[in-house]
Amino acid sequence: MNILVCIKQVPGTNKVEVDPVTGVLKRDGVDSKMNPYDLYALETALRIKEEKGGNVKVLSMGPPQATKVIKEAYSMGADEGMLLSDRKFAGADVLATSYTISQGVRKSGDFDLIICGKQTTDGDTAQVGPEMAEYLGIPHVANVRKLIEVKDNSVVVEMDMPNTLEIIEVEFPALITVEKDIFEPRLPSYKKKMETENREIKVLSFKEFEDQDEKKYGLSGSPTQVERIFPPEVNSHREVWQGEGEKLAKNIASKLKELKFI
Ligand SMILES: Cc1cc2nc3c(=O)[nH]c(=O)nc-3n(C[C@H](O)[C@H](O)[C@H](O)COP(=O)(O)OP(=O)(O)OC[C@H]3O[C@@H](n4cnc5c(N)ncnc54)[C@H](O)[C@@H]3O)c2cc1C
Repeated sequence: MNILVCIKQVPGTNKVEVDPVTGVLKRDGVDSKMNPYDLYALETALRIKEEKGGNVKVLSMGPPQATKVIKEAYSMGADEGMLLSDRKFAGADVLATSYTISQGVRKSGDFDLIICGKQTTDGDTAQVGPEMAEYLGIPHVANVRKLIEVKDNSVVVEMDMPNTLEIIEVEFPALITVEKDIFEPRLPSYKKKMETENREIKVLSFKEFEDQDEKKYGLSGSPTQVERIFPPEVNSHREVWQGEGEKLAKNIASKLKELKFI
């Protein structure tokens, strides 16, 4: 099985300041680490490989220093690593990040399964995995908390919804995003670290991508404008709607209008 794991380098502390003008995290000089949820994603991939055989590739999008998390993944057991890095990718919001990663995935081979963490500890949107899957035109399941069975052409997983658990089977190629505690991540091995010290990390830049429309990448491909960052209000109000897709879509549209989001 060919498995791809998306891993992101995030600040190693939650005391990162936000630029009051741009709304972007001030990352310079801040210690970094692998996004904790991505450790769970990598552990899931390694366990599938141990059971079914195959290859685990990790992919990160970020500045050159993001190779550090790829090396960490090597010392946990990943076979190959790739970094998507280019100044043209800087300032990307979720949409541009997902598009850039989907372009990188298209250039890096055929995968049966792509595994992402549920969310990051810095951007925290939990949208990159599902958006990437949409760009790649493959099915996806988010918030996977249990891997029930890996078959030759599909995977059966348990998805954690706010009030329910759902068991779903998706055919390959597919993407899942995993919850913490799906498996206990293994520690990096010193032996593997030494063995993989000089292992290649392939770097892909904008010029290698199929889509050469610069307006889809980085700041110019990012429609999001950060106006203010603040902790969300705690609110337990919830509405559950039943019905068919068209009726539910109308409900959502009128709710968004009522709340003045659109
Ligand atoms: C207007 C705007 C400007 C921004 N400018 C910057 C900027 O200049 N610099 C900057 O660093 N950030 C910037 N960001 C933040 C950036 O958009 C997010 O960090 C990025 O979109 C990923 O979203 P997330 O962290 O919420 O990922 P989530 O959706 O929470 O992540 C889910 C999973 O997707 C995968 N994933 C996410 N990101 C990556 C990645 N980069 N590589 C590999 N896998 C990944 C991981 O598996 C992760 O567990 C900006 C955001 C906005 C809105």
